[in-house]
Amino acid sequence: MGLQKKRTREQYQRAMKVMPYGVNSNFRYWGPDDTLVMTRGQGAYLWDSDGKKYIDYRMGFGPVFLGHGFPEVAERVSQAITQDGNIFAFTTEKEIELAERIVAATGVDMARLANSGTEATMHSLRIARAHTGREKFIKFEGQYHGMSDYFLYSTASAGKGTLGSPRSPINVVQSSGIPKGIAEYVINLPYNDLEILESTVEAKWGDLAAIVVEPTMGNSGGIMPAPGWLEKIRELCTAHGIVMIMDEVKTGFRLALGGAQQLFGVRGDLVTYAKALGNGFPIAVIAGKRAFMETLEPGSVAHGGTYTGNFVGVAAALATLDVMQKQPVHKTVNERGQMLMSGLGEILTDAGIPNSVVGVPSMFGLYLGEGAPPVDFRTFLEGDHALYDRIIVQLAERGVLPEMDDREPWFISYSHSEADIAETLTKFEEAVKGAKG
Ligand code: PLP
Repeated sequence: MGLQKKRTREQYQRAMKVMPYGVNSNFRYWGPDDTLVMTRGQGAYLWDSDGKKYIDYRMGFGPVFLGHGFPEVAERVSQAITQDGNIFAFTTEKEIELAERIVAATGVDMARLANSGTEATMHSLRIARAHTGREKFIKFEGQYHGMSDYFLYSTASAGKGTLGSPRSPINVVQSSGIPKGIAEYVINLPYNDLEILESTVEAKWGDLAAIVVEPTMGNSGGIMPAPGWLEKIRELCTAHGIVMIMDEVKTGFRLALGGAQQLFGVRGDLVTYAKALGNGFPIAVIAGKRAFMETLEPGSVAHGGTYTGNFVGVAAALATLDVMQKQPVHKTVNERGQMLMSGLGEILTDAGIPNSVVGVPSMFGLYLGEGAPPVDFRTFLEGDHALYDRIIVQLAERGVLPEMDDREPWFISYSHSEADIAETLTKFEEAVKGAKG
């Protein structure tokens, strides 16, 4: 018996007949008995097909930063499509306004819109290659940058013991169907290791178009950049003409209005944004410094997409920015997130479970293990993932729903109230007791 109750099970069986594994993203598959089917979301809550209510900490994998069905956003989207239409294959005044607002909020010079994080990172890599005339790039183990072939190596799906020596890492391919030759262009290194990064760049810079970095590891339990890490990447990129791509798909507009660049004071040459900008509607951004963005010359360097700049995503982003700029969104989320981080850590410690709560208040992970918090994907893999899973199953049964998997952070939204946090902590304490048996 898993998380599925009667009607949820029936709906999932129905889904299995027409959708591979009953899901529209492999990441949503939790196994035949635990994959849930939802009917409704509001604020910080979700309801499954059996009407069971959950306090949601997945928030759609992070984008729902204000809350499900947030009224200002929903109204603006429906107003936009009923009054104005949806997509024209022309620039619209709303797109211009959105680009201006993104420039003002984040400090980039220019922006182009896309619909998903995958599109944004894929295009950013192309721009970097076109700009430098080089073809290889560095990414870091445990980072995920979307579904395009080049990035599907040594993501957080890589298993323990597969990555090789940190001095000579193995590119672990995460999917069949990727041509073998692609691996030649990808260099995976451990996150936060200044020495290995520096020696690799010194040896290979002439081939390197880009270093792609998640400013906090939003796909490996929220691991933080060590002091000097982002600065070192910046320094090496500047010194060797490598394009620094900050993948802010998860952190952008969430860690602060100006994202991780604002929080850490380090600027990429290119930046990708997506999730929190549209509160869950499809909108993404490739942005950065003028000299890099102007590489996107029609006829020379390709960027496009039929749905880029569609009214739904643009209206959602404009409305989300309005709310973020007029209401104390970041302050509230950070306060509530901090309450939750502290409370979860205390409960685990009181239960005798060694732990670190890792990340920032709006997006953090729980590492169950001795010693210092993990600094890279390899140390993260040392944690007790099986115990985490048992706790989360117990928690989900009690109606609180973070990701089943500790690689994915807990996401806090503006709709999570103090009462939700208190209820979560009470249920977490019960879940920990239940998991310990
Ligand atoms: N980059 C990062 C850092 C991500 O976390 C993700 C998705 O979680 C992506 C890119 C891909 O975004 P999308 O799922 O919108 O394609």
